[in-house]
Amino acid sequence: MSIDRVTVYAASSQALHDDYISAAALLGEILAKAGHEVIFGGGGHGLMGAMANGALQAGGRVHGVMPAFLTKIEQGHPGLTSLEIVEDMRTRKEKMLEGSDAVIALPGGCGTFEELFEVMTLKRLGQYLGPIVLINTRGYYDELLSFLEHSVKEHFMSPTHLNMWQSVAHPADILQAFGEAPAWSTNALHESAAVKAR
Ligand code: AMP
Repeated sequence: MSIDRVTVYAASSQALHDDYISAAALLGEILAKAGHEVIFGGGGHGLMGAMANGALQAGGRVHGVMPAFLTKIEQGHPGLTSLEIVEDMRTRKEKMLEGSDAVIALPGGCGTFEELFEVMTLKRLGQYLGPIVLINTRGYYDELLSFLEHSVKEHFMSPTHLNMWQSVAHPADILQAFGEAPAWSTNALHESAAVKAR
């Protein structure tokens, strides 16, 4: 599958260890140099801002999607290729995934989790087919990944669902992860139905 547009979910927090900031900037740079267009939440702060700056400085195209109410408390990133203002958070999530070929979750808080779990759910139901890759800087996602495996062990998901996402320790491995992502199809809907009564 060829990848053009990549959606990146990322923290808004500014109070983060430098390793998170540099990983986000490097991710943006790598995506830009690979010719990918980046779609993200539009914020100029935290890992969102660092990732966007990394991509823009490397000559990349970066599209932000922000709900109108957020523009009242913070400015969207000023240097973006394009900034789309939408009605609400739901519309933003929909727009961020429109035409997206792959999703990346940098470390983040509940906003990032929500976005990540929505796209995982869509993939489980065969409505999103692209790679989903977690950037596991400083092992940030270790517990989440263990918990997802626990969910499979307890039969809330099937072992096949473990193929829906991958994690990489370093942004340098992102393009390889895209290439190695197991194929997924709209038949996933039936696979999901296979988690039946024991
Ligand atoms: P969090 O991980 O809780 O910091 O939330 C970050 C994610 O939620 C991003 O991917 C954005 O789409 C969205 N988000 C949350 N807060 C903001 C903000 N202040 N500015 C822009 N987007 C935000």
